[in-house]
Amino acid sequence: MSVSFDIAVIGSGAAGIAASVSAARAGARTLLLDARPAPGGTGGFSGLTTLCGLFDAQGNHLNDGFPREFAESLAESAPVQMGRVWVLPYRPEKFRALAVQLLAPVTTRWNTPVSATAKHNRILTINDFPVGAVIDCTGTAAVAQTIGADWLSTDATTQAPAVVFPLRNVTAELNSPAAVARVVLPVARAGLPMLTFQPNLEPDTVTVKFSGRPEQVLPVVEFLRQNVPGFAQCEAPRHFTLSERAGRMIVGRYVLTGADVLAARKFPDAVARCAWPIEQWNAAGTAYFRYLPDGEHYEIPARALQSATVENLFMAGKTLSADDDAIASARVMGCCLATGAAAGKLAISACSR
Ligand SMILES: Cc1cc2nc3c(=O)[nH]c(=O)nc-3n(C[C@H](O)[C@H](O)[C@H](O)COP(=O)(O)OP(=O)(O)OC[C@H]3O[C@@H](n4cnc5c(N)ncnc54)[C@H](O)[C@@H]3O)c2cc1C
Repeated sequence: MSVSFDIAVIGSGAAGIAASVSAARAGARTLLLDARPAPGGTGGFSGLTTLCGLFDAQGNHLNDGFPREFAESLAESAPVQMGRVWVLPYRPEKFRALAVQLLAPVTTRWNTPVSATAKHNRILTINDFPVGAVIDCTGTAAVAQTIGADWLSTDATTQAPAVVFPLRNVTAELNSPAAVARVVLPVARAGLPMLTFQPNLEPDTVTVKFSGRPEQVLPVVEFLRQNVPGFAQCEAPRHFTLSERAGRMIVGRYVLTGADVLAARKFPDAVARCAWPIEQWNAAGTAYFRYLPDGEHYEIPARALQSATVENLFMAGKTLSADDDAIASARVMGCCLATGAAAGKLAISACSR
């Protein structure tokens, strides 16, 4: 069968952007498709404004190459230290625009849910295009589900969905845990959701996250206006979406575990590094962070990016072969960029087999 595309990448979030750009730059005819109308995925469309997982404990890049290039193109400020980790503040609109620019050498199809055919443990077509290899970056293991390959799912009780939104006209200083506590505690005592705040590059604006339902946003904002100094004029957008932390991972030749993460394990076939803690959230908005040893990072082996059973199926980002604990670390976008870029290169070797 003639191959229309060497590589098909499904899902255009951080992982899918990295996978398709790195495959195309290596000379592969690359197709990227997404059910959404434009590239960006969770990083571009869910209201997030901090890219996590790029840096070690000193704020140095963990992964050179595409993750660093993407971060440096996106950056409008220095990384910010938040407790024991560093994050890069960004604008979601710039994330989306950068994705469009970088994807120029890739053939793209938007508003296109994936379909696939497979035979003898090999994917033959994606949406009727003959393909050499496939990289599932959907966060839902959509390709594996379509062809019946094995997948694992995360536990929604430790990966509760959250609402993320910008809150404008905030004049309160939120520059220390004590300052944040003065805002968060009265909100929680009033029976409203536990809020977390993150940097936002717009002036007098913070990004608010809470595990809960979109209809809780307006009561939260009204409470802040009435009761909390610095929030009297605050404004939230009119529409909010719920973002799913939980997802599905494809079972690979190696399943990365929480024990690997916490032991800062290294692998002979390592293709990416990550130092982000295991970050779990319950429905009440309480976060549980389990950190690596000081100054350490763990590695992700190439085998965790290759399906255990389908010889030309690869995965990256939130779809990585990992258990419930490990994905709660490796799903941050810095790590998705790194595993995506690695999967783009690995998949090329499977095209010609
Ligand atoms: C509430 C919340 C807060 C978070 N906070 C942060 C944070 O502050 N910083 C950080 O770095 N990370 C954060 N994360 C984690 C991070 O945003 C995601 O894990 C990461 O963006 C996943 O990237 P990805 O490329 O693997 O998948 P995604 O960005 O989710 O992209 C998957 C893409 O696949 C497409 N797709 C899905 N199914 C199909 C299908 N059947 N056919 C075609 N296309 C399909 C989707 O439309 C989507 O565009 C947060 C996540 C959540 C939910």
